[in-house]
Amino acid sequence: MDAHIDELAGLEVRNAGHTWSNARWEAGNVRDVLNYYSAAPERLFGRQIPVAGGIDLTIHEPLGVVGIIVPWNFPMPIAGWGFGPALAAGNTVGLKPAELTPLTAIRLGELALEAGVPEGVLTVIPGKGTVVGQRFVTHPLVRKVCFTGSTEVGKQVMAGCAEQVKRVTLELGGKSANVVFADADLDQAAAAAPYAVFDNAGQDCCARSRILVERSAYDQFLSLLEPAVKDLRVVDPADESSEMGPLISARQKQSVTDLVDATTVAFTGSAPEGDGFWVPPTVVLTDSPQERIWREEVFGPVVAVMAFDDEAEAVTLANDTEYGLSGSIYTRDLGRGLRVSRRIAAGNLSVNSHASVRYWTPFGGYKQSGLGRELGPDAPNAFTEEKNIFISDE
Ligand code: NDP
Repeated sequence: MDAHIDELAGLEVRNAGHTWSNARWEAGNVRDVLNYYSAAPERLFGRQIPVAGGIDLTIHEPLGVVGIIVPWNFPMPIAGWGFGPALAAGNTVGLKPAELTPLTAIRLGELALEAGVPEGVLTVIPGKGTVVGQRFVTHPLVRKVCFTGSTEVGKQVMAGCAEQVKRVTLELGGKSANVVFADADLDQAAAAAPYAVFDNAGQDCCARSRILVERSAYDQFLSLLEPAVKDLRVVDPADESSEMGPLISARQKQSVTDLVDATTVAFTGSAPEGDGFWVPPTVVLTDSPQERIWREEVFGPVVAVMAFDDEAEAVTLANDTEYGLSGSIYTRDLGRGLRVSRRIAAGNLSVNSHASVRYWTPFGGYKQSGLGRELGPDAPNAFTEEKNIFISDE
């Protein structure tokens, strides 16, 4: 992996329109995930539990075949988060990339063979979700499905897996809040906010697509946010300095612009004219939690901003969603940062930061954002069955 970072990144720049800096991070993330879990086989500890009349041991056994269904938004990392710990726990893996973005997965499969992973241990199977993905769900030898994608398809996958009581991990949509209190370092919060939502052109399940700002700081925050959004370099991702590229497809652009057309846009950044599914970074103001732009996952470079009056209202508004994946809290009061983090029903919260993903900490959603956790020290266990063995000393 380490020797192929630029090659893999280049494939993603061309196939998915990712920026070079993102794509290099994504390839490096797979390398780091593999490195981290490479020591897991020796650490798949069982326990020895005191019992009368003998000795009791638990062991972690691999599940068998694991099917990993990957979406188009982060083709490399999401594949790696599944196959890294799954292989480390002794499973074999079938990996289905999204039809729109199969290139890096195919190359990862080749690199695995070159690195000595035996044929059939990591098998990349490109194809339609309704065919290849469904086969993971229905094939009795696949004992676990890891699905990342839309909440709608995730529910179908979960229902299908129930037929065979098959293990399933779901990483689904999000509508995460970025809560900015008046006591925050507003320069820092406003400078970070565009990257928290417009990264990967907003096609990120962790995108902080709702910004909640305490009313007394609202005007100042917006006046700082506007230049930060306008300064974002939205140019051809083949240009190394690009900070945001186009959307993945005409269909995705249509779904994003449909949502934007139903709102009042406060201001936008720039985007190139001409070829490419470009949508400029867009900021929308709203005071209605019922508006579609406030409730629905946009999966594009659009953020909605709303004012709140106090901490309790901020928590209520942040939690008024069927999703619960991530979120940020900007405040200089660390007691408040911790308190609000505990009250927001989401799996990944950051105080004075918008970082959600580290391969060595757990990642996953509350409510309809998902089921189960990926990454972190416990991930290999999620690809095992725990067996209990009692040996009598009689
Ligand atoms: P999907 O949920 O349709 O696709 C995700 C993955 O699931 C793809 O590999 C897809 O295959 C596969 N798939 C599709 N249907 C089935 C099925 N019936 N059984 C098994 N696997 C299936 O997402 P879309 O690409 O249609 O994106 C739509 C919306 O979903 C986005 O606008 C966004 O809101 C959300 N989304 C969320 C993501 C997240 O990270 N949480 C990631 C991607 C999308 P294929 O595409 O090859 O047919």
